[in-house]
Amino acid sequence: MANLFVSRHPLILHKLTRLRDVETNPKIFRELVKEIACLLAYEATADLPIFPKDVQTPLAIAKGAEVKEKIGLVPILRAGLGMVTGVWEMMPSAEVWHIGLYRDEKTLRPVQYYNKLPIEPTVSVTLILDPMLATGGSAVATVDILKNWGVKKIKFVGLIGAPEGIENLFSHHPDVPIYLAAVDDRLNERGYILPGLGDAGDRQFGTA
Ligand code: URA
Repeated sequence: MANLFVSRHPLILHKLTRLRDVETNPKIFRELVKEIACLLAYEATADLPIFPKDVQTPLAIAKGAEVKEKIGLVPILRAGLGMVTGVWEMMPSAEVWHIGLYRDEKTLRPVQYYNKLPIEPTVSVTLILDPMLATGGSAVATVDILKNWGVKKIKFVGLIGAPEGIENLFSHHPDVPIYLAAVDDRLNERGYILPGLGDAGDRQFGTA
C-alpha cells in the first residue's frame, strides 16, 4: 500500500519481539516503547528538508545543514505518551501537543476529551504518536483535528498496525504516511490487535 512504511530494521524487530512478550514487565516495556519510537521517528523524519549552513570548527569552516521545519509531536493520550520521550530527545526543540481520545467500548468510536491546540498552527510538520493502529478511529480523528488546525504535513508513527486500521486511515487520509514496526493479522471482537501486545496503555502504566 502506498504511504505505508513497515520497518525491517533488525533492532526494531528484536525490540518488538521483547515488547510483545507477556513476561515483559512495565519498566522494560516502557524502555522498549521509547527505543522503538525513537528508531521509527528516525525513519519518519528521513525526508525532512534541510538547508545549507556553514559552521566554524576549531580549524576551518565546514559545510553543514540545518532542519528549519517546526516539528510538533502529537501523542494520543494515554498510550502515545511513552513514545514521546525517546523521539523528543532526538528533536528537543519540537513542540508537544497532546490529544486525548478514548474509545467508546460499545461503538469503538473515538471520543475527544482533551485538546488545547491554539487557534493558529505553531508547527509545520506533525508526528502523531500512538502505539496501536487498531480500528484507526483515533488516528483518523487526530488527523482531522490537525488538518482543521492548519497543519499541512502530517505523519503517523505507531508500533503495530492492524490491516483494518491501516485501511481506515489510508482511505480517509491517503496523504498521511504511516510508519510502523509491524502489521499484524486482524482485530478481535473487542478491537484488540491479534497477536499484538495486549493493551499498550495498561502495559506501560502497570494498570493491567
Ligand atoms: N489498543 C491497545 O492498546 N491494544 C490493541 O491491541 C488495540 C488498541
